[in-house]
Amino acid sequence: MLENHPDVIYAPAMRSCAKMGCGDPAEASVAVRYAARTAVIGVLSATHDPNLLDLCHRHAGRLTPPRGWRLLDERREVAATDGGVEVEIAASA
Ligand SMILES: [Zn+2]
Repeated sequence: MLENHPDVIYAPAMRSCAKMGCGDPAEASVAVRYAARTAVIGVLSATHDPNLLDLCHRHAGRLTPPRGWRLLDERREVAATDGGVEVEIAASA
């Protein structure tokens, strides 16, 4: 892991995606509510919060919660339907 991270040096306010190997700027913060079995994708939090997972646009869009969990995307100001949120499930490998 000898990558350079110039954005960390020049723009300390910008955080990068938490996914291993992804250096894209974070655009969303994901809150995982274990008790409610819900993952909530929101806009990037203003400050770093260890309880939130910062993800780039690509990885936030590919987020796949565990089976039986709900995924809420609060970035879209659309009234939630009872049908749930359809999640793109990327083929592994
Ligand atoms: Zn990413």
